[in-house]
Amino acid sequence: MIDGQTRLVGLLGWPVEHSLSPVMQNAAFEELGLNWLYVPLPVRPEQIEVAIGGLAGLGFHGANVTVPHKQAALGLVDEADTDARGLGATNTLVIDRQRDGSARITGHNTDVAGFITALRARDVDLRGCRNAIVVGAGGAARAVVYGLLSTSEGPITVLNRSVSRAEALVADLGAREGWGARLLAARLTSDSIVGATRAADLLINATTVGMWPRVDQSVWPDSARLPSTLTVLDLVYNPLETRLLRQARSGGARALDGLEMLVQQGALAFGLWTGHGRDTNRVARIMRDACRVRLRTPNGG
Ligand code: NAP
Repeated sequence: MIDGQTRLVGLLGWPVEHSLSPVMQNAAFEELGLNWLYVPLPVRPEQIEVAIGGLAGLGFHGANVTVPHKQAALGLVDEADTDARGLGATNTLVIDRQRDGSARITGHNTDVAGFITALRARDVDLRGCRNAIVVGAGGAARAVVYGLLSTSEGPITVLNRSVSRAEALVADLGAREGWGARLLAARLTSDSIVGATRAADLLINATTVGMWPRVDQSVWPDSARLPSTLTVLDLVYNPLETRLLRQARSGGARALDGLEMLVQQGALAFGLWTGHGRDTNRVARIMRDACRVRLRTPNGG
């Protein structure tokens, strides 16, 4: 029940209508008996500064930040954790009220730890990854490349439809941490993805290709077979079973969907807000179940 004691957190994004975060965060608050509420907050790009200032003024305890605000939000917080600073983007804000009534906002990035934890939960040890291909150069690709750079040692190829965006990502992360020698950018084509994947052990789709409603699309061409030695992670979680994952399975490759990363980054954010960090496994299970129920409908996200 919402009452005068209810603590508020929200999701800043544009658009936010299809997000699963309210579903999974509210399910966890309810099951842990916490009087908290997570609300979607549609914020136009030009309003992000005023919105973040308003959150503190309205007494919110925190927020998630999603497309297109993750990078802009980092410039609007009082401090930031190592991953948020290294990546140049924040997806979780924690708002601490001071004795004098003012508020201090810390920007975290749980996408990176969510990505690493999700793979570990499925027995993929990134330290053993020798050669990774990341398809996409948007916000999700950025978190994944950063996560790979900080945990694995091998080369990472970033393939993107707009090659300039892949080059910018590689230049930015490469310069930031001195990781440039491990990064390569190229245009996404049927030939480039098949060629790059020959020597790889991990292929990650971080584009929107295959996402509802265009579920018949895949970044992998029909003309080639996915190597059976590959692990394929599709960050798309709506639908859970994408065309790329079906192609991976039919070639004998290991296929992992994007739900675990979504759940893990959400459970980590939940812990930062509520202090229930030790319950992360339980919270992740509640969130996973809530998302699976919602995703049973074709456009469930
Ligand atoms: P974004 O910043 O908007 O980036 C979109 C990416 O998709 C860009 O690289 C874009 O290429 C590419 N793309 C779009 N349409 C394409 C097409 N027809 N052919 C080839 N490439 C295309 O989005 P994002 O935030 O990175 O999200 C990307 C995906 O990851 C989404 O499906 C999202 O749901 C998913 N995601 C999952 C999680 C998780 O926890 N599982 C977390 C974050 C995001 P251009 O640069 O050429 O436009």
